[in-house]
Amino acid sequence: MSSRPYIGRFAPSPTGPLHAGSLVAALASWLDARAHQGTWLVRIEDVDTPRCVPGADLTIIQQLAACGLHADEPIVYQSQRSALYQRALDQLIAQGDAYPCACTRAEIAQANAARGLSRHRHGDMIYPGTCRPENRGLAGRPARAWRMRVPDGPEGVIAWMDDRLGAQSQRLDEAVGDFVIRRADGLWAYQLAVVVDDGDQGVTHIVRGEDLADNTPRQIWLQQRLALPRPHYRHTPLVLGPNGEKLSKQNGAAPLDLSSPLNCLRQAGRALGLQIDAATPEGWLALATSAWREMNALSPVSPP
Ligand code: GLU
Repeated sequence: MSSRPYIGRFAPSPTGPLHAGSLVAALASWLDARAHQGTWLVRIEDVDTPRCVPGADLTIIQQLAACGLHADEPIVYQSQRSALYQRALDQLIAQGDAYPCACTRAEIAQANAARGLSRHRHGDMIYPGTCRPENRGLAGRPARAWRMRVPDGPEGVIAWMDDRLGAQSQRLDEAVGDFVIRRADGLWAYQLAVVVDDGDQGVTHIVRGEDLADNTPRQIWLQQRLALPRPHYRHTPLVLGPNGEKLSKQNGAAPLDLSSPLNCLRQAGRALGLQIDAATPEGWLALATSAWREMNALSPVSPP
């Protein structure tokens, strides 16, 4: 257990307004922080600029506020933190962990097909290691991206205990291979930015949607190589739409209906196993915090 003071965060990408699914992650991270008497941060993850929608950050912040969820510290924007990501990349390069890569997607697909490897389940391809310095390296071609080396074989098994999912593990070379930390288009990759920011902001507890769980091993590996402490992880249930697919901005989930923030909270609470009734959002949040504490066997708050 970490003895650092609890710091949690909600880290939305401003690609559209919050929907019923993203509110579950926001609420769970807020409740867990409150139940631990910790600090709750909001960080806008706007590194993938082509996917960002102008104004979506403010919409998200207003939606959170309407539900009574207010950040305890000024909100930070990843687009303003490039110097930190560059410093981490420089460290990884100096350590021999990161190397430049010239491969196109077509070349990776071809190399994998030759090895009889098919696509990774999310459409990402496992990188065959073509540009590793010990292979033919860049072979005089211009570098496009920077990749993070992962250990070959069982040494690359990353195991963690998720507060909700229990014991988890992934072998990095089989699941993802050497992964991109700075993209060919010059943008910082989510994996690097999230790890650097969680480390820099002293985040001790990461509570987020279950769809992100299989990124966790890559992030733990980056933490290890950057000598950052490992936070606790809790991956929250996903909300499914009528077609049985996870609600997401990509499949057109409706924005929260904030004509009744209380209903939004009730619905998000139900996804987390909380059946709570109250007259106001503030009242609901107070009851939900105690229920969360009880449900997760956290010690009660000592009287002031
Ligand atoms: N920005 C990511 C998203 O909106 C979440 C990152 C995280 O919580 O680690 O999907």
